[in-house]
Amino acid sequence: MSAVLPSGFVRNPNLHAYMFVSPDAASRREVSRRIAKSILCRDKNDNAEPCEKCDCCIKMDAKTHPDCIVIGADEKTGVDDIRSIVSEAYLATNEADFKVFILEDADEYNVQSQNALLKIIEEPPQGVKFILTASSQGAILPTVRSRVCSVSGSVRDIESIIAEVKKSKPSLSDEQIKTLSYFVEGYEKADIKNLDEAKIFDYVNKAQLYLSAKDSGILMSLPIKREELMLCLQVFMLSVRQLALSKATGRITEGVLDSTLFSQCNAKVSMKRAHALYDLFEESYLLAEGYANVNAVLGYLFENVR
Ligand SMILES: [Zn+2]
Repeated sequence: MSAVLPSGFVRNPNLHAYMFVSPDAASRREVSRRIAKSILCRDKNDNAEPCEKCDCCIKMDAKTHPDCIVIGADEKTGVDDIRSIVSEAYLATNEADFKVFILEDADEYNVQSQNALLKIIEEPPQGVKFILTASSQGAILPTVRSRVCSVSGSVRDIESIIAEVKKSKPSLSDEQIKTLSYFVEGYEKADIKNLDEAKIFDYVNKAQLYLSAKDSGILMSLPIKREELMLCLQVFMLSVRQLALSKATGRITEGVLDSTLFSQCNAKVSMKRAHALYDLFEESYLLAEGYANVNAVLGYLFENVR
């Protein structure tokens, strides 16, 4: 298998958690082990590929590495089980520089378990890394999603999406289609054709004006129809998530903001602020989803935004 992780990912000390999403259980197993091996290897190359020769690599192949703890898909993962994982995370490593937890099928964890997990993913003890796997992103809480570095597999490649969308929407540029593709779960479905691209591009523009501080009053012009407001908040969430991930990995992460918009926003938003904004936009989104009055949602947003 070729390298799963882009170079720099494994070494970045700010990155504590990865998530590999694939509908195929065998790939989930294989790729999560591969990421763990890359983290634990004592002699990985610049592309973060494991050396396959050191004691850590050999033990990973033999499934006997004491610092790689696998919580299998068939194991119990109630909130108490997660709490015992958390306690284990605070114990010193056995022999490697890192301790790696592989949590299989985290999309099947209930909300309480995911929330317990969120706390440790946000601020894990030194040297502890988490690798989550999921068959789809859908059941993973947005708060968890915002804290992990997603590595996708078995998805259609962007080139084929671009070719497909161009058949029905020939006027869209490749960059625009890439932006739209973030609104389609897992890229597996073709319903990108049904997205309202004019609205999405308008909201991306608003997000850019707000985040680059060109127009901090832009929040006053958010849509007041519930569905439109929810879509707009989704765009804002994806934008700040892209900024947060890029800062955590030290490289430009692709996302709804194209490279020009990205660099305008990136200079103005710290990682801490990106996380705080993500939480705020998400809370507002959840309020809207819970059928709060739209004015109440906007009121909440204005009250808490800084
Ligand atoms: Zn090695």
